[in-house]
Amino acid sequence: MDQNKFNERIQDLVEEAEQKPRRREKKEKPQLKESIYSLRLDQLQEWLKENGEKAFRAGQIYEWLYEKRVKTFEEMSNLSKALREKLEENFALTTLSTIIKQESKDGTIKFLFQLQDGYSIETVLMRHDYGNSVCVTTQVGCRIGCTFCASTLGGLKRHLLAGEIVEQVVKVQQALDEVNERVSHIVIMGIGEPFDNYDAMMNFLKVINDDKGLNIGARHITVSTSGIVPKIYQFADEQLQINFALSLHAPNQELRQKLMPIARAYKLEDLMEAIRYYTNKTGRRVSFEYGLFGGENDSVEHAEELSKLIKGIKCHVNLIPVNYVPERDYVRTPRNQIFAFEKTLKKNGINVTIRREHGSDIDAACGQLRAKERAQETR
Ligand code: SAH
Repeated sequence: MDQNKFNERIQDLVEEAEQKPRRREKKEKPQLKESIYSLRLDQLQEWLKENGEKAFRAGQIYEWLYEKRVKTFEEMSNLSKALREKLEENFALTTLSTIIKQESKDGTIKFLFQLQDGYSIETVLMRHDYGNSVCVTTQVGCRIGCTFCASTLGGLKRHLLAGEIVEQVVKVQQALDEVNERVSHIVIMGIGEPFDNYDAMMNFLKVINDDKGLNIGARHITVSTSGIVPKIYQFADEQLQINFALSLHAPNQELRQKLMPIARAYKLEDLMEAIRYYTNKTGRRVSFEYGLFGGENDSVEHAEELSKLIKGIKCHVNLIPVNYVPERDYVRTPRNQIFAFEKTLKKNGINVTIRREHGSDIDAACGQLRAKERAQETR
């Protein structure tokens, strides 16, 4: 894609997010380039053919990007100088710059990246006994408006491009290269609603899953949605082996609507039907995320109601004790009550775990990520 078209596209994304006409500013805008990481292997082959090059070069470029993880086009030494220059002209290899890299006591690392147009996003690396998991962001901000979440406080600024999501993983992998470790798992649970940026998310999935790309197995990738019903059907039809999580948070329509305004657009009944469609179509289980918000949705009665709601669905429930967000006044459920909730689900034959908290001392836990206002001021 040429530069002007790419600039237009970025502007369109901003405009769509802000839902207001584009400001026709006289001020010169920085020249932005499409990230090379946005391209699936077949798209890169296509681009090469269109530019008078052999398609097999795509495999070589992928190797430089995802295996050797070079930081400049210059280093791609088995490509002709002319091709390297063409790549340089048309694509950016770096569209994220690391502003802050903050490490928690438990080994969690939070990265604050600045995008080409000045916005910033957060990405989190979590250390588990089974591997290293990266929590990626899909949008600058979010327009879903969940009442307990920090990511949605400033609304949506713009969607991320596929390459901006891929590059988050590449950057974290480059940091891990220094200690000879590998990113083994991905959770699409950072800032933003992935199903609200569906096409970019799908490209991201293809690139990281490709065995010539980052080669992260589908079963090691989890995507989580607040419940955009039509996209759940679309996702089910993709028939991927990717783990699927739904942020449920309430056992009935009234309560869900209070906690998550999106429930007004998509009724719980319709949502559950979409979930059944997913589990039937894919044969895979769904993971229900259920935040425990003190005094709101965390009684034994709620646990009984939840059990009835999800009865017969191939699933797993992940209980998330609320994480503190200063702007929100939700309180923690006492420990014994968390266990009582868990016990009730277990008694009803439901698979359940309580989510372990990662990086809470650096505000990296679930729902605490936010697009940093500071970097937006530099626009
Ligand atoms: N937008 C997607 C991805 C976010 S994943 C989604 O809604 O699923 C992050 C998970 O953390 C979601 O289940 C979200 O509802 C939950 N969450 C958000 N704020 C939280 C908070 N303050 N405490 C605990 N969980 C929270």
